[in-house]
Amino acid sequence: MKHTLQLESISKWLPTASKPIIISGPCSAETEEQTIATAKQLAATGKVHALRAGIWKPRTRPGQYEGAGEEGLKWLIAAKKETGLPVTTEVANAAHVEACLKAGVDILWVGARTTVNPFSVQEVADSLKGVDIPVMVKNPINPDLELWIGALERLNKAGLTKLAAIHRGFSSFEKGPFRNAPMWDMAIELKTRIPELDIICDPSHISGNRELISFISQKALDLDMAGLMIESHINPDAAWSDAKQQVTPANLGKIIDGLVVRTVSSDNKTFKDTLSILREQIDQLDDEIMSKMAARMKISEKIGQYKKENGVTILQVARWEEIIQTRITLGKAMGLNADFTSDLLKLIHQESIQIQTKVMNKVEERV
Ligand code: PEP
Ligand code: MN
Repeated sequence: MKHTLQLESISKWLPTASKPIIISGPCSAETEEQTIATAKQLAATGKVHALRAGIWKPRTRPGQYEGAGEEGLKWLIAAKKETGLPVTTEVANAAHVEACLKAGVDILWVGARTTVNPFSVQEVADSLKGVDIPVMVKNPINPDLELWIGALERLNKAGLTKLAAIHRGFSSFEKGPFRNAPMWDMAIELKTRIPELDIICDPSHISGNRELISFISQKALDLDMAGLMIESHINPDAAWSDAKQQVTPANLGKIIDGLVVRTVSSDNKTFKDTLSILREQIDQLDDEIMSKMAARMKISEKIGQYKKENGVTILQVARWEEIIQTRITLGKAMGLNADFTSDLLKLIHQESIQIQTKVMNKVEERV
């Protein structure tokens, strides 16, 4: 499905921001002192382009800190006055929007738990009709690209053009190394479908712990994301929400300093010539891989026919196991990752089974 959105890039609505755009601040505004002190230390690093702080916190279980509410907006605005940095917070309904607009919040964001609900997103969009304010949309908690795009479309239909997406990872029952599985292909697919849409990565909520933030941030930049939203707190371990994943402003500065910022292209002639030679080699190899693959499938078809004539099943587990083992060993010797070899073979094997199934079930035409 083709998606057409009328968009203005972040560089238009955050003109002081250079790539990567850095948005930072505490998970939650807890007190006036904590909000302002964090903001001042972040501004002092000289690396932050906008301040974030949650005022209304969507908590998974009741009984946890649910945010300061409207009182916290005053702290955020005070932090803006102190630092000169634009401020952003999460909105989930029309009342939040109204309070933010009244207080003078510069940028809004829709949280992951709101993006999943079209009623809520529509309420936010309706409450913003006729207002020219930037809105960032976090991915829904479940990996549903249409839902993510749908939220952006609802806002766009309400007349909002200063939009960006935030990739914060996806919930899953199985717990992996990350709090929220990054599923990078979702962000890549979003960028492919809507190339003019800026995507900001939220390594804090993907990681769930501060140790992984650098790694995720670098990965995001290497996927050409426009910027990062990273949670920072003056005293992370004592934070009232998301303590494990927050970093001090000083450490935020170190994380940013450690990132390598690469460009998508280069005007350098030698670079361009070398790249085009390498790409020709890749094209050539892809042609060879495709024709070998087609030849392999033709043999599968013959095997299917032969098995059919001899009343033999399509799948022979022992043969399949032998294939996997020998190819992984061979691949390893050639420097190929074992998971890659195994995934590739599974894909080929599935197709081969499908071809053989077709042959087996083909009713011979009677003469
Ligand atoms: C947050 O940014 O603090 C937050 C609640 O994030 P998410 O909507 O990604 O869960
Ligand atoms: Mn948080």
